Amino acid sequence: LVVLDKVNKHFGALHVLQDIDLTIARGEVVVVIGPSGSGKSTLCRTINRLETTDSGTITIDGRPLPQEGRELARLRADVGMVFQSFNLFAHKTVLENVTLGQVKVRKKDRKSAEATARTLLDRVGVGAQAEKYPAQLSGGQQQRVAIARALAMDPKVMLFDEPTSALDPEMINEVLEVMRQLARDGMTMVVVTHEMGFARSAANRVVFMADGRIVEEAAPEQFFSNPRSDRAKDFLSKIL
Ligand code: ATP
Ligand code: MG
Repeated sequence: LVVLDKVNKHFGALHVLQDIDLTIARGEVVVVIGPSGSGKSTLCRTINRLETTDSGTITIDGRPLPQEGRELARLRADVGMVFQSFNLFAHKTVLENVTLGQVKVRKKDRKSAEATARTLLDRVGVGAQAEKYPAQLSGGQQQRVAIARALAMDPKVMLFDEPTSALDPEMINEVLEVMRQLARDGMTMVVVTHEMGFARSAANRVVFMADGRIVEEAAPEQFFSNPRSDRAKDFLSKIL
């Protein structure tokens, strides 16, 4: 569904993504882990062109992602993204947050957009908060609204960049549970996370990045019990 072929990206002298080859199948859950600064966020951001690339191609559902223009806007709408900081519109209610993109980007009429929004808010367990403003919600609730907002665009793939890193410990699980459910429902997902329990239980594949490269790719049981590369062994010894 998503194919990266020899993708390279520099920030000035820093070669932040180096010959990234990555194929994500429909319905697959790929967890990306690696040390700070290894390029995980940049990788996510290139998949929906929040960052341009210097070379290589990215294909989404068979269509190459251009660097700009209308086709880009169309393809980008197929890629949902959830960030560490929830990025909700502070001056809009929860319901409006989840309705807006459907009306503006997907051109749905407001009534059906609101109906979809309420269904999704129920699904992530915050249906009762629809009329509130983001600041009136807990971090875990806000992040679940952010997930509902991304889902409202009916994306083909969902990218999560450390979705639980800004949350208090007791709220982490409610967000991970929503993500697990999404995975069970067959959503294609790329998840950058430090939650190794989630990686073990929900990932089909673990991608380990270091210094802008994909150093290792494996099934979670294999990766965690028997990492092949020294970089991965070293990383795991520090976090497990
Ligand atoms: P973390 O685990 O800390 O989130 P990461 O793996 O997500 O790290 P990135 O955010 O992708 O890493 O950053 C990779 C490298 O690129 C880092 O050295 C970072 O400082 C650098 N970098 C990221 N964004 C920019 C930017 N807009 N301009 C210049 N350098 C950047
Ligand atoms: Mg990051």
